[in-house]
Amino acid sequence: MDTIMVLKFGGSSVADNKKLELVAKKIAKIYDKGNKVVVVLSAQGKTTDKLIKEAKELSNNVSNRELDSLLSCGEQMSTAKLSILLNYMGYSAISLTGWQAGILTTDNNQDASIINIDTTRILKELNKGKIVIITGFQGIDKNLDITTLGRGGSDTTAVAIAAALHAKNCYIFSDVDGVYTADPNKINNAKKIKDLSYEEMLQLSSEGAKVLHNRCVEIGEKFKIPIITKSSFNEEKGTIITDKIEEDTVKSIIKKEVSRVSIIGNGIIRNFKLIKQIIDFIRSKKLELLNFEISETKISMVFKNIIPDENIKELHDLIF
Ligand code: ADP
Ligand code: ASP
Ligand code: MG
Repeated sequence: MDTIMVLKFGGSSVADNKKLELVAKKIAKIYDKGNKVVVVLSAQGKTTDKLIKEAKELSNNVSNRELDSLLSCGEQMSTAKLSILLNYMGYSAISLTGWQAGILTTDNNQDASIINIDTTRILKELNKGKIVIITGFQGIDKNLDITTLGRGGSDTTAVAIAAALHAKNCYIFSDVDGVYTADPNKINNAKKIKDLSYEEMLQLSSEGAKVLHNRCVEIGEKFKIPIITKSSFNEEKGTIITDKIEEDTVKSIIKKEVSRVSIIGNGIIRNFKLIKQIIDFIRSKKLELLNFEISETKISMVFKNIIPDENIKELHDLIF
């Protein structure tokens, strides 16, 4: 037993008991291969949204400190449930909250950053042969107050833990089996991307593709941790995010808000064929462009009017 595997499961992957059971079986299988297993878990389904709504029903001036205290409960519930289930299945597991796992953060509630992870407790439990299940999205600040890392922040917890434990990779399991050329829930013939550079993924995340939290990509790049996104429910090969740079490849298209569209890919600035295709498309559809910016890895366009999903689909199918 010496390879440490860090596995993160998102909220939609553990939305109900049945899904939690599938996730538990997947974890057990990886543990049975002789790995040391650390799991980072999100709150179940829409729990975080529900908690925010409930706080706002009580007050129109919710304290940031109390909101974090409340939101952290979502992950505390899901991790305890998973541990109960794994124990029932005959595996020795333990759930740890952010503070129990040694996650120290800044004190800006709802947008805290991880400063340090003291891995003593995690390693102690791993050395006892336990599956260690850690709450995503939360930590503790220097005043011992609970903090959260921003919506979608469990990805960041996972990559930071992988870095602190010197794991070879960080696995992010979700309801999609990888990163696609567009949001597969909106564009039906979006294609799975085999690999992306950290820079490409960072651009995608910051343009709003919620498949990965952007800070997790920064941490992955800083500590050279490959991030592998896979499905929680099948064994398909996922997408790997590393520092591998491929020139002149177009990776993904994304619509942010209603009138901003970005296309991501290393070396896009030199891809004259693509630039011409885009400009011809805009002309043919008579779309009114307010801003067109191009950088090494991104073309960003802001239009005067709402861009219908139908146009995004047409542009996607033209490019990919
Ligand atoms: P989790 O609950 O596992 O954290 P998220 O909902 O945060 O999952 O992220 C997965 C979702 O990201 C997918 O269901 C998909 O709709 C969305 N998404 C947006 N853009 C992309 C993309 N380019 N590739 C894959 N998924 C994407
Ligand atoms: N539960 C948190 C959220 O819904 C964190 C996460 O899922 O990554 O934003
Ligand atoms: Mg997420």
